[in-house]
Amino acid sequence: MQRLPLIGLFGIVIYVQAWPAKIPIQSYAMPGDREQGIIAAFNFTVERHNNNRMNPFKFGHRNRDMRTSAADTWGVTKKLCDDLQSGFMLMIAGETSRLHSAFLGVADHLEIPFINWDLSPLMPQDVGPNSMEVSMRPPTAELLADLIIQKNWSYIIYMHEGRNSQNVNQIYNFIHQKSNRSVRSEIILIPRDPSDFGDFLQKFNLQRFLSNEPKRIIIDVQTSYRQQQFLAAIRAAQFNQHHYHYVVANFDFSPYDIEVFQNGNTNITGFQLLSRERGEYAALKRHVESQKFYPTPDKNIDIESRLAFVHDAILVAKAAFEQTLRKNDSLFHQNFRHGDLFNRGYPGIFCHPRYDAKYEDRPFGTFEHGRAIVKALHAVQLGEKDGTLTGHIEFDRFGFRKNFEVTVVDLVSNSKSAFNKKETMEWKQSVGFIANRTVAQHTRKNLGDQSSKKIVKVATVLVEPFVMIKRGCENASKNGTECQGNERYEGYCIDLLQLLSHRIDEFEYEIFLSAGNKYGVKQPDGSWNGLIGYLLNGEADVVVASLTINQERERVVDFSKPFMTTGISIMIKKPDKQEFSVFSFMQPLSTEIWMYIIFAYVGVSVVIFLVSRFSPYEWRVEEMTNGGFTISNDFSVYNCLWFTLAAFMQQGTDILPRSISGRIASSAWWFFTMIIVSSYTANLAAFLTLEKMQAPIESVEDLAKQTKIKYGIQQGGSTAQFFQYSSVQIYQRMWRYMESQVPTVFTSTYAEGIDRVRNHKGRYAFLLEATANEYANTRKPCDTMKVGANLNSVGYGVATPFGSEYKDHINLAILALQERGELKKLENKWWYDRGQCDQGITDGSSASLNLSKVAGIFYILMGGMIASMIAALCEFLYRSRIEARKGRINNMQNLRDSLYAQLRLSFQGGAIAKEGSQAHEALKRQKASAMLPAQYTDPMTSEEFMSTSKNAFNTRYNTAV
Ligand code: GLU
Repeated sequence: MQRLPLIGLFGIVIYVQAWPAKIPIQSYAMPGDREQGIIAAFNFTVERHNNNRMNPFKFGHRNRDMRTSAADTWGVTKKLCDDLQSGFMLMIAGETSRLHSAFLGVADHLEIPFINWDLSPLMPQDVGPNSMEVSMRPPTAELLADLIIQKNWSYIIYMHEGRNSQNVNQIYNFIHQKSNRSVRSEIILIPRDPSDFGDFLQKFNLQRFLSNEPKRIIIDVQTSYRQQQFLAAIRAAQFNQHHYHYVVANFDFSPYDIEVFQNGNTNITGFQLLSRERGEYAALKRHVESQKFYPTPDKNIDIESRLAFVHDAILVAKAAFEQTLRKNDSLFHQNFRHGDLFNRGYPGIFCHPRYDAKYEDRPFGTFEHGRAIVKALHAVQLGEKDGTLTGHIEFDRFGFRKNFEVTVVDLVSNSKSAFNKKETMEWKQSVGFIANRTVAQHTRKNLGDQSSKKIVKVATVLVEPFVMIKRGCENASKNGTECQGNERYEGYCIDLLQLLSHRIDEFEYEIFLSAGNKYGVKQPDGSWNGLIGYLLNGEADVVVASLTINQERERVVDFSKPFMTTGISIMIKKPDKQEFSVFSFMQPLSTEIWMYIIFAYVGVSVVIFLVSRFSPYEWRVEEMTNGGFTISNDFSVYNCLWFTLAAFMQQGTDILPRSISGRIASSAWWFFTMIIVSSYTANLAAFLTLEKMQAPIESVEDLAKQTKIKYGIQQGGSTAQFFQYSSVQIYQRMWRYMESQVPTVFTSTYAEGIDRVRNHKGRYAFLLEATANEYANTRKPCDTMKVGANLNSVGYGVATPFGSEYKDHINLAILALQERGELKKLENKWWYDRGQCDQGITDGSSASLNLSKVAGIFYILMGGMIASMIAALCEFLYRSRIEARKGRINNMQNLRDSLYAQLRLSFQGGAIAKEGSQAHEALKRQKASAMLPAQYTDPMTSEEFMSTSKNAFNTRYNTAV
């Protein structure tokens, strides 16, 4: 709103509103692809302008959708004239087609300023210097000519959509102006329907199948939508595009396209004009995307350049009006009356003389300020600081943009890697390509534009098996070249670096170690130490180590995709193997059970003895030959013990109870025995064949709830951070415990922690990442082990400083290595192939029984045999003595004879008593006495027999009496 200062009576500045009306501007959206985006961009920019209180005036913006009814020049002209009757001071449309003449006709005729947010289809030579039109979209002919010259191309194929074919003439003009080379060209019309693009390209390729001439194709399509379709067809094309180089000749080559093509092998060049990092761009993008009608299938796809041109068209209009009013701020005073626009004193602007009852004398006249505004339009100079999205804006006298700058992105296929090499060049209109200009990169950086070869500084830390000093290279100075520089190191990360350097161009590196082997944590003053510190202060370009990706680090450096995943785990000393004593076969049942079995055995024997004594059915009455009876019972104490033992051993005896009571007792014992024996057998297998290692700790919960085994972690790494900031109670408790320990349980390296586990006799557990844990467990002396599940899940990534040119290349290379299984191979190489320890319990030696475990039963067998022999000897002596006592001869003599007779019998195995001999007599006597009741028997002893017979006798002698 224009305010005119009046100097008041006391010098006070009083503002009087001169003309409260808004400056009317009219835009036209043509039926075409997604014109709603254009309307949204208009509304957004005008609203932003009107809401800014600093602006001296507001715009009254109206938009008209040109429907198909206005598809011809006459129809458009009529619509424009209708709108002009209610009046506007400037019109904006994006016209490049034949309808353009309608707009330009009205503009030129009535001197209405016209901003074409697209590019005027007229050639400068066809436009008079007094044109009412300015074009927002910069012409590309000069840029294309410069590109062709720079690339030394002598033959181009220009694919167009009909309207802009004369661009080729323009290109030729520029080529002739700038060099004397001759360039051949071919002009081809692109089909209308985007679904035909694929076939079209296929046919194009077939026609030129035999020619090996490189095909440089300039694609000049109208809208970004069609451009996207065409690029998609190129990507989908099944033929070899090795000899092809595409040039996308408008400004819609987006970061998304770069990303997509960089991962392929198609040569392509595109132009970028938009300042995508501006807040204004993001706001416009958000606004346009928030409109429901606007299709946003993929958020990665930027807004099209035409929306940015629309945005800048409003800025240009604002600048032109400001400029006009700056010269004379009361210029429009007479133009706004009763809410109408007056021109030359009459309301509205008319395309032709007309009779008007009210204004009979209305003369036909052009817009009175048109020339002044157009003059201001041509003089507009805006830059990014003014909020433009398409860079520097300035128009030449024909209304075309000049002095604009374009970023030329060149993606050239690279035989060495799977993705294209990207080169970015700056080009300025009327200057050409600007050498040595650092370009604000929006996307993947290009390594090729470094003028001098740079050695990449790679920082790392020593951790087995990621980075280790080669054997024999511990003392670097002493060895020759084989231990110099990078050759000093070996390990997973060193191999990974080598693989990366094979995949990335110009990636020559030099490894150095982090002082104090520190990974990096944030210091209280906000700075970082260790590897992260090196990246931040520029001492390292890349970090390749077992560096964990975490949130705090990701805030200050860039990480690649993880090349390995792991988690925090527990390492303890392997418990000693279960000791096998010779009596291990006793272990299936506890000592307690063995004791109870012995008691039960004795108890049961006594019960059987008692019930057999009391039960009448166990007593046996036998008639004797002399008519008497003997009453006997088989179950003496001795026999009861024998019977019960036999049952326990699963053997049978020739005595069995006959009474019900005896049978009940025996059945119960048998059942008991059966269960005990089968339980024993079942347990025995497990006990004797498995070498069970009873780990004292089996999970982190076990560790946390005890204090006998101390535990600690490495200081200054992600594990410490994990515990320190964890919200899980158990980890918080563990952290408090670790902090409170004196002497400290923290270590400065993994190696120190692992040593501590090994040397503390199972009294120290170390929490470290599973990768290092598993590796240490496969190294001699094989006395450590990992227990429990991992506490968390983390990944290792290659870190680079923000904005590093290596980031994307490393990322892609890591993904490629992962997909091709190279990383897995490396893992196998460093973890499993080099293992020095037997793993697991499944190896044959421990699964089979060995003597040490069962030696005890052999001892028992031997013991039994010896005891039985001793018993036999005792029986022998005892019997000899009894026999000797019964003898009638003197004692000593008798004992000797008796021993001699027993011995002889033992050796001979038998003897015969002949009739008439002493032995025969003795036997006869014995037989006779056998007729007597047992208690009166005086059986002839073998000594008697032997001593009486002395000589051999014929009948078989039975020692059993
Ligand atoms: N990998 C860890 C880090 O990046 C170091 C080891 C640890 O903290 O356990 O910090």
